[in-house]
Order: sequence, then structure tokens, then C-alpha cells
Amino acid sequence: MNNRHSFPLNCPICHDQRFSFFRGTSHLQKCLGCGVVLAQPETSPERYSEEYYTSWGASSDELEHTRFLKQKTFCRWLSDLEKVVKPGRILDIGCAMGFFLEVANRRGWESFGVEISPFSADAARKQFGNRIHNGTIMDVSFPCDFFDAVTLFDCLEHMPDPVAALSKIRMILRPGGVVLISTVNVDSLSCKLLGARWPHFKPEHPVCFNSSSLATALKAAGLQPIRLKPAVKNLSVRYILAYFRQYPLPGISRLLQLLTTILPDCIARFPLPLQFGEMLAMARKS
Ligand SMILES: [Zn+2]
Repeated sequence: MNNRHSFPLNCPICHDQRFSFFRGTSHLQKCLGCGVVLAQPETSPERYSEEYYTSWGASSDELEHTRFLKQKTFCRWLSDLEKVVKPGRILDIGCAMGFFLEVANRRGWESFGVEISPFSADAARKQFGNRIHNGTIMDVSFPCDFFDAVTLFDCLEHMPDPVAALSKIRMILRPGGVVLISTVNVDSLSCKLLGARWPHFKPEHPVCFNSSSLATALKAAGLQPIRLKPAVKNLSVRYILAYFRQYPLPGISRLLQLLTTILPDCIARFPLPLQFGEMLAMARKS
């Protein structure tokens, strides 16, 4: 099936009009201008139900393990951020249940969140009250120059118009304020090896970046890229298994299932620093 007509005529990042189908697929298009890979958007709030969050281990029996892993990662990433901006007001877009906001709060930040899922926003509100907005960055209003930092972890690739979102972020950042982003990288080794079977190609990721297209998006929004490196996350065998149950990959899912039956629980839950085809980028509002 040829879905070319349902794709935009212009790249939403660099406005180039030249595309090729990614690795012979009909549902993924690569912009020849900036290298971004576009999928047909499917990002309605209904997608982000309670069931959606079980894919990354947010079910009640795994919640504490997920919080432990994610907060270990967030501590390292926040340390990176604090090297360039001192604690002040911070906004986490796609804050989910508020695990990052808990870390930021403990380290002296005044924390705010935006979350599209009513289920997760309600969970975050139990701690952060009306500092959590249930919706998107496009429909929330904050004063101009309000935040010292804005974070988007595994969130920008969910947005059909990332440049519009980054422009809004620029507006609410103070001059000298910093945005920290973790997102997918289509130039990563895992994407090269897996091609169209790469797990990050999924309906809720309409815009999959590489370093060049991410830099182009940041500059188009008036933000100055200052750092970019591979994103290292703390993951456990148990956590990865929950992910591949939701997004099965032949061979790997079965291997992980086997591993969790063999491994003692303390090993299956051990946090391993891993890199799965994502990057961590920082940019500043001048
Ligand atoms: Zn482009």
C-alpha cells in the first residue's frame, strides 16, 4: 500500500520536499534534507491510557522497580543539566507520574509538569497538585521567561509538530535557560541493525530524529544546541522484558522470557547502564 499522500508535503523540521521511503517501507519516510524519519501521526490522548503505561512497567506490582530505575537515570541527567544551570523553576513535559519531578524537587528545583494522559496526570497531581497540567505544551499557558529549565524525556518524538513545541518552550524559558531532551536517534547502531523493525518505530512516534534533524529543529525554534551525546539509561532485564511484551520482537522477546525464568530476581532487577538508540541533547535560549 502506498501511503505517500497521507504524509506532509513539506518536512515539519526543515521544510524540504524531497523524501525517500525508509528501507523500502511504505509507512516510514525519510527527509532527504535533514534526515528525520516520519511516520503517520497517531497521537490522540486516548492512546495514553492506563494500559499504555504497563508497557514500561507502570503496573502496580512493578511500579516501585520502574521508579527506582527511572530515578537512577534522571539523577544522572539532572546532574548534567545542573552543570549549566542552577536549580530554579523546571518544567517536565511528558512528566508521566512525576518520577523526574520527585528527583528535581529533592534537589531544590521548583517543579512543574505537563502530561497528556489523564491517568498519569492524576497520579502526578497527588504529589504536585495544580503544578501538573493535563494536556499538551501547546494548550498550557505559562508567563514568558518563566522557567530556568525545561525537560522532555522520550517525548519530542511523540509530537507531530516538534518545532512548534520547541518554539513555545523557547518563549517560556528565561534568557540563558536550558532545555534537556532525550529522544530517539535513527542514525544509531540499533536502528541500522534492525531497520524498520527498530522498536522506536511505532504509531505514537510520528517524528524520529537523528542528531542533524534535532539540531535543525532546535535552531528553527530559536534555541542554540550546546551538547549532544548518546542517552544512557538504567534498565533491568525485568524492565526490558515488560517492554518487549508490549512491543514483541521475534527472538529477543523469547530470549528475555527465558532469561527471567533462569535469573535470580535480584539479578533480573539489577540496574544496567544501557544505550538503546537514543540521544541526550541540551540547548540554550540566548
Ligand atoms: Zn527535513
